[in-house]
Amino acid sequence: MNSNDWTQGGDHLHYQQCGTCANRWYFKRDFCPTCGQTSPHTHLASGLGKVCASTLVHRAPSDEFRAIVPYRIVLVDLADGIRVMGHAEVDVLMDDQVRCEVRIIAGRSLPYFVKDTHVS
Ligand SMILES: [Zn+2]
Repeated sequence: MNSNDWTQGGDHLHYQQCGTCANRWYFKRDFCPTCGQTSPHTHLASGLGKVCASTLVHRAPSDEFRAIVPYRIVLVDLADGIRVMGHAEVDVLMDDQVRCEVRIIAGRSLPYFVKDTHVS
């Protein structure tokens, strides 16, 4: 386990890339989901990207998340070549440039996107 991995409670977004077929993904695995190669490389993601879908959630799936409604869920195409789903500031909309942080939301460590004001 890598303690810097957000899925393991760390504070940075990582992704993995297969050295054989160049496929990229962001949920930590021990093998490539495309070709089965068993030693993928783990990289620190820039976390910068563009929102390709955005939804304001009013009906939460569990009690923990019910406490924070309404909240925004976005799908982001990162410059790193992966698509990541995460929480976001309520006013983040489609086509916005965003930056990923890892935050504790409803007791879990999750990707959280804020508007990237450094992009003109
Ligand atoms: Zn592969």
